[in-house]
Amino acid sequence: MLIPILTQRSHLSRVRRVIVKVGTGVISSPTGGLSTPIIRRIVKSASELLKEGKEVIIVSSGAIGAGFPELGLKERPKILPLEQAASSIGQIKLISEYDRLFRRFGHKCAQILLTREDIEERERFLNARNTFFSLLKRKIIPIVNENDSVATDEIRYGDNDILAAMVTILVEGDILIILTDRKGLLKPPVEKNEVINEVKEITSEIKKMASSKGKGRGGMESKVTAAEILTRVGIPVIVADGREKDIITKILKGEEVGTFFVPKSKEITGRKYWIAYLRKVKGKIKVDEGAKEAILLKGKSLLPTGIVGVEGKFYPGDTVSVVDLEGKEVARGLVNYSWEMVEKIMGKNTKEIREILRDLPYEEVIHRDNMVLSR
Ligand code: GLU
Repeated sequence: MLIPILTQRSHLSRVRRVIVKVGTGVISSPTGGLSTPIIRRIVKSASELLKEGKEVIIVSSGAIGAGFPELGLKERPKILPLEQAASSIGQIKLISEYDRLFRRFGHKCAQILLTREDIEERERFLNARNTFFSLLKRKIIPIVNENDSVATDEIRYGDNDILAAMVTILVEGDILIILTDRKGLLKPPVEKNEVINEVKEITSEIKKMASSKGKGRGGMESKVTAAEILTRVGIPVIVADGREKDIITKILKGEEVGTFFVPKSKEITGRKYWIAYLRKVKGKIKVDEGAKEAILLKGKSLLPTGIVGVEGKFYPGDTVSVVDLEGKEVARGLVNYSWEMVEKIMGKNTKEIREILRDLPYEEVIHRDNMVLSR
């Protein structure tokens, strides 16, 4: 079933596949450990959704929060090896608690631990997708966390807001509900505790409002980034207080709780989502006006002749950003050649290239099918 773009709160009851992100501040206390009553509430709401025929995926933080007291620490560690140790102890507790509570409500849940590479590599991305779908088909609730114990600083998302956005795209979710320990995005001054009900456009002003920190790794900033990623591809995002009773039910009934980030129209396919939003951008290719126009207005691929510069080290299959002479992004795409090769062939036409290279497997540096225009 294809759901139209859900631009009003009253539309939200139509969602079918719901992703709920639960923040550390919601389910664990500052001194560590997990809050069973809150997890129970989330599980109860998820169970209700399942009974209505919806599907639920939970992205839950709280492993580090649940684990650090076991290491004899008084507060959440800030260095990676301790975070990893705390997380690997805490993840068992976290998932056991979900498992115990879901079973009480007559459901089964499953644990999926992901790293950035699982999302960035197409084959692993597709494998993970299959796992999610076979669980959902059997009405089993996937519970996701970042695989903290193996993810080093360079390869981890570091906060589950972005991971939750990626998972939402990965499973083609209809909505992302981010549960946190605040009522939503607050108007300044935050002491007044006044929530912004709806965000139609993520402006620099909105980003500024979001720049204060919360208890987990992310704070509001990463929630707004998650909303920015998803609303651009047509998926609504709600940030709300996870400690409030029946919050998920209220949201899906269209009640005015939390902050509703209104989605924009969806224009690209799943594979293109992946190219444009799920992968790290490894470099930039600067193009002249002619190439820019050909890409933006004529639906053309990127050829060597229109390229005027290369930045960063990238290799065939990487995602790169195509920028204009002013450095503004025109498109993103999967590149056919390494940065060294692009440097060699840039500015040249096919005939000139054939004179210096015997073999040129692709005429295009980025083929149109592997390209997404930036807006
Ligand atoms: N993966 C971390 C945990 O389970 C949470 C990261 C975050 O705070 O967003 O503790």
